[in-house]
Amino acid sequence: MNKSKKILIVGAGPSGLSMAIFLSELGYTPRIIDMKNEISEHSKALAINPRTLEIFSPYNITNRFLDNGRKMSAVNIWKADKLIYKNEFSKTKQKHPFLLILPQKLSEEILLDELQKRNIHVEYNTNFESFKSNDPGYEVKINDGNIFKSNFDYLIGADGGHSKTREQLNIDYKGFRYDEEWELYDIELDTVLNNDQGHFRLFNDGGMIMIRLEDNIWRVAGNLKSLLNYLPKKSKTGKIIWESKYRIHHKVSKRLVIDRAVLIGDAAHLHSPVGARGMNLGIEDAFIASRLLHENRLSEYDLLRRPYLEKTVHRINNITSGLAGHSKLSKFIRSNLDIFGILFPIIMPSARKFIFGFK
Ligand SMILES: Cc1cc2nc3c(=O)[nH]c(=O)nc-3n(C[C@H](O)[C@H](O)[C@H](O)COP(=O)(O)OP(=O)(O)OC[C@H]3O[C@@H](n4cnc5c(N)ncnc54)[C@H](O)[C@@H]3O)c2cc1C
Repeated sequence: MNKSKKILIVGAGPSGLSMAIFLSELGYTPRIIDMKNEISEHSKALAINPRTLEIFSPYNITNRFLDNGRKMSAVNIWKADKLIYKNEFSKTKQKHPFLLILPQKLSEEILLDELQKRNIHVEYNTNFESFKSNDPGYEVKINDGNIFKSNFDYLIGADGGHSKTREQLNIDYKGFRYDEEWELYDIELDTVLNNDQGHFRLFNDGGMIMIRLEDNIWRVAGNLKSLLNYLPKKSKTGKIIWESKYRIHHKVSKRLVIDRAVLIGDAAHLHSPVGARGMNLGIEDAFIASRLLHENRLSEYDLLRRPYLEKTVHRINNITSGLAGHSKLSKFIRSNLDIFGILFPIIMPSARKFIFGFK
């Protein structure tokens, strides 16, 4: 393939930055634009999984992630304040038997720096507006204060959940959104919980996830109303660093590729943060799509990737329902966790594989 091919990546979140790095490693110099003026300020995704660490290991990025992150060695499942099961990650045979806790802002900073080292610079304050087919490529209208048109051979939509690229390609998501709002806090907290492990705390009416971000700041997220009232006994709260409310979507784009345009990351799939797959899946999308583009096999991406994404989002939906759903079955399981807990040793090896990104 001719490495002078012109490639436009729309969106410099983790998926777009990763795509640019993988393409650069394959000898291309893509252009990458983002409507924001800099990296996202919030630490949305916290966890980098072993699959992502494996993907980035040849590029000196895994080392940098490991130097800056914290290893989370287990996830505990609680019924309110009673420990039901400890899912120990060390029981796996992976090279990296842990989730790496690294706020998304820091992961993006490392990716951006690695991209700049490869002499590719994100064009911030630059908006993708529309495109016209210009067989076999695209004429793209870009707005950086001035509107101009540029021709590209490939178009990569890495522009997140409200993807204009997907909209312009006329592709819908298939799936649904829950009406219920989830609460999220990054908050200073003194708690008796082990601060190097993750915690799923389940109650009859829903559930919450607690993971320490850094220092004494914890991420607390869940679907219980007035979530902070459900913190473990004797917890002392301090300053709230970030708070947000969001609704959960479980959706996959109906197509991932049309001709030479491809959707990756949240532009292609949305789901709950339970399972810590979102950012990791987007990075894996970029890894696979970049290789197929290089091998002139981009048209195969949909067939290779969409069934896997659909299965993964379906599975995340099941786990989220178990953690927080309001069906009679979910509530029955949560209120009888002492009994159902005996199944955890049987189902957890498979759950670990899933959380690690190998299933
Ligand atoms: C509260 C929360 C917690 C999460 N926790 C986890 C977790 O623990 N683990 C995990 O793996 N994932 C998690 N996620 C999901 C993760 O944050 C996303 O999956 C990830 O950010 C998706 O990356 P992306 O690059 O695909 O999209 P985004 O990060 O949304 O980036 C898209 C980029 O495109 C740009 N853009 C959009 N439109 C245009 C346009 N027209 N022109 C130019 N640029 C444009 C945007 O400015 C943005 O920078 C969490 C998400 C949230 C909200």
